[in-house]
Amino acid sequence: MSIDFAAVVGGFVHESAPMRVVFGAGSLDTVPAEVDRLGASRVLLVAGGPEAAYADLLADALGARLAGRFSDVVMHVPVEVARSAADAAATAGADLVVCLGGGSSTGAAKAIALASGLPILAVPTTYAGSEMTTIWGLTENGVKTTGRDPRVQPRVVVYDPELTLSLPVDLSAASGMNAMAHLVEGLYAPGASPITTLVAEEGVRALAAALPEVVANPTDIEARSKALYGAWLAGWTLGVAGMGIHHKICHVVGGNYDLPHAGVHSVVLPYAMAYNSAHASDALSRVQRALAAAGINAPDAATGIWQLEQAIGAPTSLSAVGLAEADIHEAADAVFATPMVNPRPADRGAIEVLLRDAWAGVAPREISLEPSEPTR
Ligand code: NAD
Repeated sequence: MSIDFAAVVGGFVHESAPMRVVFGAGSLDTVPAEVDRLGASRVLLVAGGPEAAYADLLADALGARLAGRFSDVVMHVPVEVARSAADAAATAGADLVVCLGGGSSTGAAKAIALASGLPILAVPTTYAGSEMTTIWGLTENGVKTTGRDPRVQPRVVVYDPELTLSLPVDLSAASGMNAMAHLVEGLYAPGASPITTLVAEEGVRALAAALPEVVANPTDIEARSKALYGAWLAGWTLGVAGMGIHHKICHVVGGNYDLPHAGVHSVVLPYAMAYNSAHASDALSRVQRALAAAGINAPDAATGIWQLEQAIGAPTSLSAVGLAEADIHEAADAVFATPMVNPRPADRGAIEVLLRDAWAGVAPREISLEPSEPTR
């Protein structure tokens, strides 16, 4: 493979904050030492859902360092949850927040950091990738607001693939495709640089190879390690490179109609890629090449991602994840009204076609409508 110097010759800006990552089966055991290394002595442990069983083990290992626990984690962090999480940190006199779980636990920890400036040590148990970003999200009256703040980016992330062995197969597949979406959009996002491009392509290779193995044998620690490695690369890519129309659609449609986060990402990705296909050909040819390296040979990248989703049983239609057909028109209006930076300008008519295709789960196709409705 020859080096592609186009981005180098064209110039770029690359900015990423330093973070410490500890990766490997059994690395949950390192958390107490990592807490000490940060100079912390009063930990608020944030964990809910079935993964809180791992947090019980961690609580024992933390011993006298454990100052309190918060378990009321809710997806998309309603402001009431953010407030009670911040209260729990204040009551405990915490000097560090340790979150263990998926993006919902990390989101609660980020809400605390946003309110108090407390540092975070994250122990992820899904492939969502929030632990690698400065992005926070809060929901009030059904409307989700996101922003970036360096204080919410964890100082240390401990990736222990053993903690993902219990992630159910359907959630593993959907969450894995959520990570895949970070990688794909990172290849054409505004903050892409030669480094993020290398990382994203490696991430696509890792996830495309790992996810079918995870689905075939969810307790295979090697497959789980490869998948979590891909998820790490994906979260980092999202944090550094940014995103495009895919993430905007998922944010708006998922948020407005209260659809499952990872499942919506899985469904929308091939259609967003098809929407962008003529405008991001270099990025998408990298995806196609990475998929081929993992044994997925398809005529185009969007089809390859769609085939992977079918092979692993990830969600492939918005109807199956709970969107009513009657809501598509309004959803297209909402997506079009959302500011975005994307290789292809927002095209109201094409966005509605994209959503209709995604709702029905038909094969992704290039949507080359002559813009007849507004574009931005
Ligand atoms: P989640 O954290 O809600 O987890 C999904 C489900 O899986 C939950 O029921 C959870 O209890 C369960 N679970 C998690 N780990 C498990 C395990 N190891 N074993 C068994 N069950 C387990 O969902 P998610 O998809 O991880 O995260 C979604 C949230 O993260 C959304 O709110 C999304 O907006 C946010 N997010 C934020 C960013 C960011 O950069 N800020 C990035 C990605 C996602």
